[in-house]
Amino acid sequence: MNLLSNIFANSQMTFCGTTLFPGIAHGKVSQLKKVDLQKLCNDTGTVNLVSSELARIDLAVSKSKDQISGFMNNYSHDKNDSSYLIFEAELRFLNDRAFIEIITTTVKNTNRIGESVLADEIVRLKNNVLKCNDAFTGKGLITAQDLYYRILYNMLPDTEDRIPSLLKIPAGSILFADRLAPVEIAVIPIDKVVGILIEECALHSHAAIMIKALEIPVIVNFPGFGSLLDESTDVLIDAYQGELYLNPSDIIINSCQKAEIQHKAISEQINIEGDKSIVQSLDNQILHLKCNASSKSDIHSARSHGITEIGLFRSEILYLANTVMLSDKQETDYYEGLFKIEGIKEITVRLLDLGGDKLPVFLQMEKESDPQLGCRGIRFLLSHPELMKKQLRAILIAHNTLSIRLLLPFITIPRDLADARSIINEVITELKIIDTSVFIGIMIEIPIVALSIKHFLSNVDFVCLGTNDLLQYFCAVNRDQTHLQQYSRFTHPAFLKMLHGLITSCVNHNIDITACGEMASDPIGCTLLAALGTNIFSVHPDSVNQIHQILSKINIKQFQTLLTAIFDFDNADDVENFVKSHI
Ligand code: PEP
Ligand code: MG
Repeated sequence: MNLLSNIFANSQMTFCGTTLFPGIAHGKVSQLKKVDLQKLCNDTGTVNLVSSELARIDLAVSKSKDQISGFMNNYSHDKNDSSYLIFEAELRFLNDRAFIEIITTTVKNTNRIGESVLADEIVRLKNNVLKCNDAFTGKGLITAQDLYYRILYNMLPDTEDRIPSLLKIPAGSILFADRLAPVEIAVIPIDKVVGILIEECALHSHAAIMIKALEIPVIVNFPGFGSLLDESTDVLIDAYQGELYLNPSDIIINSCQKAEIQHKAISEQINIEGDKSIVQSLDNQILHLKCNASSKSDIHSARSHGITEIGLFRSEILYLANTVMLSDKQETDYYEGLFKIEGIKEITVRLLDLGGDKLPVFLQMEKESDPQLGCRGIRFLLSHPELMKKQLRAILIAHNTLSIRLLLPFITIPRDLADARSIINEVITELKIIDTSVFIGIMIEIPIVALSIKHFLSNVDFVCLGTNDLLQYFCAVNRDQTHLQQYSRFTHPAFLKMLHGLITSCVNHNIDITACGEMASDPIGCTLLAALGTNIFSVHPDSVNQIHQILSKINIKQFQTLLTAIFDFDNADDVENFVKSHI
């Protein structure tokens, strides 16, 4: 029986989240949760040292408190926001000793492992919720249940393989997940899933970028929703408004369907307006608009939005989506398919950016303690030259134009670039490629490169500005950590100053710099990038219309006169308010 139908007698409930991809979806929920509660409840294992088990629980509780405080900071501008109030209530529970003592006392008395005791308590609460007829008490029980879940998650290692259950999703489902890893997103059976809900997802994470590319309605970041769902819950996603309805009424369903028809008509109208690859700003500067893509369907989508060039093709997604290594022929066929898409003039292929959170299942990559600071991108390729050559051969054999643009991920020092160049040259010689120009560029996504760019510029044909990672490493905040994102803002004046120096150097050396991180797809972000001197923007296909409109309406020269004032602020909020007041 559905939890909600019991507590709230089939009443409709609405939750708000953040839209990752707009649209309307309606269906039954299919859940992907990290925890198999029953298995944990049945675990009869005991601990040798109760004190160390209590310390583990204590650590998970502190981690939960930090996460929730982080979420609250994200909403601190509006303390009456319902999300803020939910987090505040959750923090009160966690600070109440009795709440944790229910768990720790059982561990002390029985020597059972913490995870198993927490699972028992969650099931007990779930049963109480089912018996409860009073909505107020029901909500309190659900909050408690949600918090024990959070503590439990924080005690478990991150290794459970959920891919098999993901592959078995029934057709027409709304996929609900607590979190999704890139390797899981790459195998989502997209013909079966009509919409996606993710309880926690940082907006600039690889996960968020890959999810957007699926082009189905997605809402993320809504607290306390997961524990209300089970497989039979009827959910309506209105990702135009960032709202989700449980047990939606017919009136809501009808009005969302009407809204969808209107939105589609408007976007079709905009799309038939033609070529969007060039934008003229208000002060007549010429800017170029390209798209980011990670699949053939992204490229088609870019084309249908009036774009003819792919500024960043994330090639690693092919590897993440496969459970076995592709043969040389399969890989070449894949690139041939990409290169012959009609209307696309140029694709910049980024070589595999593996490592970090992008670990293909078949490569048996070593699990590192700090993967985001580890053997990622070019570091991984240079330590696996055969893999790098295999990809290069596929791209170079498949090319069908006179120029090829290769982009090297995660370059740190000039030596990385030199070593990568010599491997590329080896493959060019091996394949006897003579009449084709191979242009080589680097991603700028590590501060050391942004701050020493002049040492790279004489050896590259172009560069791409990856603000997602650049910000992650500049602010020391993992881009996946939703609750820490208030520390990681591309509008921080210090970050903007660094970008200004970098972009100015590239412009002075006549090297094209393409902004391809999420900052370029953001209204304030693209405005600032234009003021800082960027003239090539590579954005998500779905953002083309909005970014085209914004760029065409700004007076770049006038904005440049404001840069000194912007650099003088000491925080991101002030910069954002200032920019908003001048757009
Ligand atoms: C970036 O880091 O900004 C970028 C474009 O690359 P990715 O998001 O794939 O890491
Ligand atoms: Mg990056």
